[in-house]
Amino acid sequence: MTGVPVRCRQLVKIFRSGDEVTPALSGLDLDIEAGELIGVIGPSGCGKTTLLHVIGGLLSPTSGSVAIGGQELAGLGGRGLAELRRSRMGFVWQDPGASLVGYLSARRNVELPQTLAGAGRRTARARATELLGRLDIGDLADRLPSQLSGGQQMRVAVAVALANQPDLVLADEPTAALDSEAAARVYTLLRDTTRELGATTVIVSHDRALVDNVDRVVELRDGRAAAEHRPDGGAAATLLVDRTGRVRLPDAALDLLPPGSRAAAHLHRGGLVLRPIEEPDE
Ligand code: ADP
Ligand code: MG
Repeated sequence: MTGVPVRCRQLVKIFRSGDEVTPALSGLDLDIEAGELIGVIGPSGCGKTTLLHVIGGLLSPTSGSVAIGGQELAGLGGRGLAELRRSRMGFVWQDPGASLVGYLSARRNVELPQTLAGAGRRTARARATELLGRLDIGDLADRLPSQLSGGQQMRVAVAVALANQPDLVLADEPTAALDSEAAARVYTLLRDTTRELGATTVIVSHDRALVDNVDRVVELRDGRAAAEHRPDGGAAATLLVDRTGRVRLPDAALDLLPPGSRAAAHLHRGGLVLRPIEEPDE
């Protein structure tokens, strides 16, 4: 498995139903390097799911293009797209139940995509055991999804997504149903396993905790990339705290916290973390 680069150019997706016209993507450009782990963050309705569906070849854009590993998706027919998805992509959906077959054990769920792709029973079983072990649920391999917690089901769903050693992993709000502790664990697992496997990974979320677990963050607003930053990129700026306790943010931080916005401040590991507070949109 080797990660593939992803290139999106001027992506537009307009949904029409009756008289109603909803622009979900409005000219989005995005380049993702092979093996890169990016987080796409933005409020509900800003086009995150649409973007993942377009990159995953599940939805065709109204205009614009997507190329995966240099291959334009528009140049592939339905069968070519299905083959690309099956052999090179892994999807993690918001609801792990969407990835899991309810009457199969965790282990059989991870074997299934492999045997469908032509792997032998023994190979599939060995890989399922290895993946479930890596995801720390090796001892739960014989349970049905209904016998697992939400966080455990999500780990099985991650194992299912990684079963066929995808080059590209697409995860849509994988922590939406989890408490913050389980969410942090899922992010760490996704990061560590996709890094180790070398896969290009896109995780979308409205949850800012994602920021700490990716190489790069792209902020989506109204179907466009509004800002971009690397969590630990660049030299740290030296800030002066004035007599009244005020600091001036470095320019790079103003994309994330524009003047007039509100932030939550947390003391964390001997440092101070500022996170924008999402103002309710709509
Ligand atoms: P997000 O995942 O960021 O919440 P979505 O990509 O789901 O956003 O949706 C972006 C916009 O497109 C929203 O306004 C949503 O209502 C609209 N939308 C998404 N899917 C459809 C659809 N199948 N038909 C009509 N409108 C849609
Ligand atoms: Mg969504």
